[in-house]
Amino acid sequence: MRINCPLQFLNDAWHEMWRKAAPACGGCDSARPRSRWQRMHRRSSGVRLHGRRYCGADCLRQALLQALSESGPAAERAAIASHRVPLGLLLLSRQQLSAEQLRCALEAQRNAGRGKIGEWLQHLGFATELDVTAALARQWRCPLLREAANLFADHCPAIPLPLLESFQMIPVELVESNRSLLVAFSRAVDHTALYAIERMLGYHTEPCLVTASAMRQGLLALAGIRVSDDVVFERVEDSECARIIASYAAKLAACEIRLARCGKHLWARFERDKAYPLNIVFTAHEHSGQRISGSPFRFSG
Ligand SMILES: [Zn+2]
Repeated sequence: MRINCPLQFLNDAWHEMWRKAAPACGGCDSARPRSRWQRMHRRSSGVRLHGRRYCGADCLRQALLQALSESGPAAERAAIASHRVPLGLLLLSRQQLSAEQLRCALEAQRNAGRGKIGEWLQHLGFATELDVTAALARQWRCPLLREAANLFADHCPAIPLPLLESFQMIPVELVESNRSLLVAFSRAVDHTALYAIERMLGYHTEPCLVTASAMRQGLLALAGIRVSDDVVFERVEDSECARIIASYAAKLAACEIRLARCGKHLWARFERDKAYPLNIVFTAHEHSGQRISGSPFRFSG
């Protein structure tokens, strides 16, 4: 007994010290002392989801489900609510187009039942690609990047290619001093994608416009040099997404997970201690009729 007392004292002191030092779990609110096995295996100290620590797979899965069911970015609503002057009228007001040409292009678009007005104006020879892109830049109130050579910078952060291709966007310039990233678009500025980049990578984003042909070349070049382990899944229900993400977190011994929805995609990013981050993109296929039950922000696929 006399021998055990000091040991008991030391044991209690250790547990008390750990209780104070260990961050509580965001799920079960526990800051339990780790077992000897857990102390030997660093990954058992838990994983952070958007900076909040979770003690194990069950708590992480619950937190993932909660995060997935929470409302999407406010930027998504802002993007939908934005009021922009129609592209044809912008060109008309600058006398780059005649009323007859605009009427003709609108009729061709209506008869075909597809395509954007800018594409039809180019197809009919009424406007150049640069005219249309400059008008798009005015429409979105952001700069036009005329110098499209070396469109992307190879030191820019790795954004999954499926997202870049889906939104026809590409990171073009990174300023580390103020952590801002210039992101080019060629069709339309997608604020959900910009919001996702800010949330996932912590950069402030600024949009700009480039021509569609420059974007095609840039994305092709990027695909040619990018070596990536990124994984793409067909979008599944939230519970299955949570299970897959938790399973990857354990397999990769991830220390931090971040999630963002953009358009029909869900982007999950796994930070690792001694390896590059890994991205998983869940994408809802067009016309799949897939719906995420219980979620206020459903994918429109
Ligand atoms: Zn927990």
